[in-house]
Amino acid sequence: MSVIENISCHKIVNSRGDWTIRTRVLLNDGSVGIQTIPDGASKGKREAIYVPVEKSVQMVSDVINDALKGEDPSNQGKIDRMLVEIDGTKNKKHLGANSILSVSLAACKAAARSKGIPLYRYLAKMFSGDPDNFKFPTPVFNVINGGKHANNNLSFQEFMVIPAGRISYDKAYEMGVRIYQSIENLLKKEGMDVDIGDEGGFAPNNLTVDKALSLLHKAAGEKYKVGDEVFFGLDVAADSFKKIFKYVIEEEGLHLSGDEMINYYRNLLHKYPIIYLEDPFYEDDHTLWAKLYEEFSRNVFIVGDDLLVTNPQVLEQVIQKDLANAAIVKPNQIGTLTETLEFIKLAQEANMQICVSHRSGDTAEDTFIADLSVAVGADFIKSGAPARGE
Ligand code: PGA
Ligand code: ZN
Repeated sequence: MSVIENISCHKIVNSRGDWTIRTRVLLNDGSVGIQTIPDGASKGKREAIYVPVEKSVQMVSDVINDALKGEDPSNQGKIDRMLVEIDGTKNKKHLGANSILSVSLAACKAAARSKGIPLYRYLAKMFSGDPDNFKFPTPVFNVINGGKHANNNLSFQEFMVIPAGRISYDKAYEMGVRIYQSIENLLKKEGMDVDIGDEGGFAPNNLTVDKALSLLHKAAGEKYKVGDEVFFGLDVAADSFKKIFKYVIEEEGLHLSGDEMINYYRNLLHKYPIIYLEDPFYEDDHTLWAKLYEEFSRNVFIVGDDLLVTNPQVLEQVIQKDLANAAIVKPNQIGTLTETLEFIKLAQEANMQICVSHRSGDTAEDTFIADLSVAVGADFIKSGAPARGE
């Protein structure tokens, strides 16, 4: 049996130019697992807590290294339990979710290396008991950025194109690239800027939600059948423009009550082939989530991100209340691989769709979520625009 010989950590820069950590787990047989840690800009308030980068480097290299030396990295449950116990807080704020996750995932990678098994198979075995039980997700491309991901006036955070599920992964990927290029050409033709936001999507000024969707429609329609081969998705990230009593869509001069917001969605869903609606309301506005679910859950994926924060306990409440039929999975929202897999199992048992997702401040070098999505049979993967290495 191979055991952990040393865990080290240093700081690097993420895709937003902010500091983050890179952790290296070395086993006594020479196998190595390396994990870099992403960061979000529009976070749910129940997410596990990060500690500052300098502190995280110290926590991993000193405290965690001392505690986990000699442990078996293939016992993921034990590794994660030890990390949670040493942390000793409810939201991982002592060691930091960044520190904990980096070790949880780097240990997993090192163990897979040591056994000579590709990571997706190793994860599939851990998840379902069968290393051959995996499938490709549908890629979701975030091609126009707004909200907290861009310095423009768009309230909604992400405008996505989603190839039909029947299309093979490579064809779907090509579709994302072609549509992205068409959007760039259209923007240039209309004299708009082609600067990009945090997730690689275009972030021009002077768009409205409707204009952005009609741009998508035009760009996608140049080569594909919109509403048959390709569909649209929105990550509204509504927390970011919810004021005390109203949802304020500034660029359209709208101050909407919850019911008016539902009507706003009704019109959009009527006009465009939108099949995916993420965080349409503030995470605590459960009455509105329930109303939207009641009316649209048969035709639209109502996706919880800030609502669920990859937390199994939060998910249980959401399932009981019928608030969402799809779940975003971001390992860094909860902090360990074990809890992430538990969350996915629970969501799948409740027949929810799974969308494994990156964060906006990512390190494109790290492909853990790609392996994870394949291993758990996720329905979707969200990793930005096909523009900068994603
Ligand atoms: P974040 O947002 O990574 O900036 O928090 C991504 C998302 O809301 O899906
Ligand atoms: Zn989101």
